[in-house]
Amino acid sequence: MPLDRFGRQINYLRVSVIDHCNLRCVYCMPLHGVRLTRPQELLSPQEIEQVVRAAASLGFTKVRLTGGEPTLRPDLEEIVQRIASIRRIRDLSMTTNGILLPRLAAKLRDAGLKRVNIHLDALHPGRLQRVMRFGTVEEIWAGIEAADRAGLRPIKLNVVVTRGYNDDDIVDLARLTLTRDWHVRFIELMPLGGGEEARIAVSHFLSSGETLQRIENGLGALEPVPSLHPSDEAVYYRLRGARGLIGVISPVSRPYCGTCNRMRLTADGKLHLCLLHDDELDLRKLLRHGATVLELAEVIKLGVRRKPTGHALKEGVAPEERSMYQIGG
Ligand code: SAM
Ligand code: SF4
Repeated sequence: MPLDRFGRQINYLRVSVIDHCNLRCVYCMPLHGVRLTRPQELLSPQEIEQVVRAAASLGFTKVRLTGGEPTLRPDLEEIVQRIASIRRIRDLSMTTNGILLPRLAAKLRDAGLKRVNIHLDALHPGRLQRVMRFGTVEEIWAGIEAADRAGLRPIKLNVVVTRGYNDDDIVDLARLTLTRDWHVRFIELMPLGGGEEARIAVSHFLSSGETLQRIENGLGALEPVPSLHPSDEAVYYRLRGARGLIGVISPVSRPYCGTCNRMRLTADGKLHLCLLHDDELDLRKLLRHGATVLELAEVIKLGVRRKPTGHALKEGVAPEERSMYQIGG
């Protein structure tokens, strides 16, 4: 497994397959003026496979598909199949807003997808529309149920906590874990990409500490649950008698750089070394100049060695080059 210069074992590649999205969450994607990658600039399924093969040859074992909205890629099944065929990749998952899962969940499972994280910011219809802007609770809920039926488990729900938008939904979302064996994870807002979305992230921030407090005030004491995996970014709790888990992900108030095990591949083929830094290596250029898997692996190794650590989100300093929908979270 490749080690970076801080001794971190890097074995997880997040692959963004598209930067387009069918929603426009207020903290992620603007309503107007989005500059999307042109189709010919997106990596093809075959190119994505080559990069993942190269990463796997170095010891990467986990891949997560993301976006933008990954389910908008018409060739997503082929991408999943190609990655699933790589023997060393033991864990293949996807982060999605779930809207297209009713027609895709079973097909993606058959292609080799193991599990999904579904993004649901609110249960109240009006608040969901305000924060995610398009789409409805019913549509996302249908996606969650389709994933559950298809066995894409454990189902994890991602809630980006945005004060004044969906903080009144925290308790209701946490309550879901009483009857469902889902992991409901509350994520602290990060300001990325400059612009209005980053400003919203700063002015509407609500810490994980406050999220947990609100859950305890509404639903009773939370028992800590030992970490599921050392590099899991979420810290987990359980409500008394609950079937599911409540998680908090706290990149701002409790940075977890020290246990980070991830690298990212952007939809336009850049190896993005850290979510919170702008450093990238251009793999698409190499691919399109006929690089072999071995040559790609050498460049990924270099990327691992150059992977940065630390950030200054707490001080309000964040990278401005790319927004969340262009990196994939
Ligand atoms: N469209 C899919 C979705 O929303 O799940 C996948 C891409 S989205 C960029 C990946 C994850 O990033 C989302 O689940 C959301 O929880 C998270 N996210 C987006 N913008 C964020 C922000 N500014 N701060 C924290 N998390 C964010
Ligand atoms: Fe789309 Fe996901 Fe960004 Fe929301 S967070 S706008 S669903 S890419």
